Parts: sequence; structure tokens; C-alpha cells
Amino acid sequence: MFLQPFPHRKSWMLVLAFSLTFSGCESGQFRRLAGNVLVPVDTELRLGQQFSQEVVKQQKVLAHEPTQAWVQAIGARVSEPARRARPEITYHFTVLDEPNEVNAFAVPGGYIYVYSGLLLLASDEAEIAGVLAHETGHIVGRHSANQMATSMGLDFLTSLALGDNPGYLAQMVAGLGTGSALLKYSRDDEYESDAYAVQYTREAGYDPGGIIRFFGKLRDLSARGEGLEFFRSHPLTQNRMDRVHYLIQNSGPYPFGERYEARMAERLADLRAYYQSRPAR
Ligand SMILES: [Zn+2]
Repeated sequence: MFLQPFPHRKSWMLVLAFSLTFSGCESGQFRRLAGNVLVPVDTELRLGQQFSQEVVKQQKVLAHEPTQAWVQAIGARVSEPARRARPEITYHFTVLDEPNEVNAFAVPGGYIYVYSGLLLLASDEAEIAGVLAHETGHIVGRHSANQMATSMGLDFLTSLALGDNPGYLAQMVAGLGTGSALLKYSRDDEYESDAYAVQYTREAGYDPGGIIRFFGKLRDLSARGEGLEFFRSHPLTQNRMDRVHYLIQNSGPYPFGERYEARMAERLADLRAYYQSRPAR
């Protein structure tokens, strides 16, 4: 997950990031194996279906088909390499209608959401590709499924996945606005997803530097006093920035890849026109 730049806004992206208990010294591979033991894949997939149904019930899906199709196409490109690691997952990318929210999040089982505000902040397609690839990495790493299983127990998680506890599930999606201490990925989860983001954007032919450029934008938001909540719960430290820079430099020749600035400008103009033309909510 990326950021929560406006503290007063809903921070239910954190839904998934339930707990905090993974220690910093386990490798991603170990945690993935542990996740396989803790959460059977069919439970994870069912859980994803339950969450995704609840997300679209509580949030507004952007009713602008060209933008949805564009983001889905970017998502399909960057998640294609992820199929090697987890062929059982089908990835779904959905734009949520909130032009003031700069955020993206993933729920278990392959469902990835991005707010329209994040699209409006990006300068080129490679930045969006970096965000979507990072969220894909959280699913490949099974981060939220692992964390939920650890904090809630597998029995309870299974009952949620079976739809036995719809009230609780709805509450999880809606009500987590303030308890940010409970609601973050571990530092290692973030590192692992950053590494996937570099790998997947490069494999998809995008400029992996989009990740760093977008991180820079988040830091600028923070410097202006926005994004404080995100930075409290989800620190975008200099160390993390340096690490991504190092990963990019060591992943192959650089500069590399496409940014698709012209297509980006066209798509954003279309999205802005959509917002200008529709009646105020
Ligand atoms: Zn993240």
C-alpha cells in the first residue's frame, strides 16, 4: 500500500494490512511458505471475493470506462510476470472514484484498487505501472493473508472467507479509519513489494524509475503537510528510497523502458474532462 495523504479521509485501505507482527528477519520466501501453510489458497481466493464485493459496495467505482480499460491494461502488463510465482491468481484492477485520494491497495486473492486521485498525481504511465506492480507484489508475497491469519487465526479467517460473518467483514472494510498502528504492512513486506515492482515493471517494458519518481511525489506531499498519516503508519524512509534506487540500478541496464507520456497526457485529459462535465456530487 502506498499512502494515506489526507489524514481526515477514510483509511480503510488498511483493511488488509491488519497486523504488524511479522518480524523483520524472516525472508520473503520463508514467509510465503509459512503463508501457504497458514492460509490455503482456496481460502485466500474466497476471502478476496468477499472483500472485493464489500469494497465495491462501500466505495464508488469510477464510471468512466476508458480510464478503467486503460488502468486494466497497465495492470495486465505488470502482473503478467507475477503469474510465474502464483499462476493460480487472476489479477483484477479497478479504479475507485475519489479524485482527492492518492492511494492504492490490494486485497488477498488478486484484487487491486487505485483511486482516481493517484492517477491524477502521476506524470507518466511508468509511475502508475510502478504502483500497480508494487500492489501486485503484496499479493504475490501473500502479505495481507499472512498478516490476517496471524492476527485473527485461521478458523476465523476461514469463516470470513465462507461469508459466515458479513457484518465483521463489512466493518473491516469500513471502520478502520483511525487505528493505524494495527494497519500497516511490515517494513519487510514493503521492501519485498518494492523489489517485485522493480522486477515486474522492467519485465513489462516500463521504466522502473517510475517507482522512484512517484515516491518523490509522495515525499513532496508530506513536505507540504499532507500525507502525514501515511508516513506515520507506512514510512517512506530515505533508506527505502535508496534501496529502490539500488534495485533499479542492479536490475539491468538503465535508463530502460517506456514512460508513455503522450498516452498518459491523453488519458488524463479525458479523465479531467469527465470530472469537469459531470454534476458535482
Ligand atoms: Zn505497500
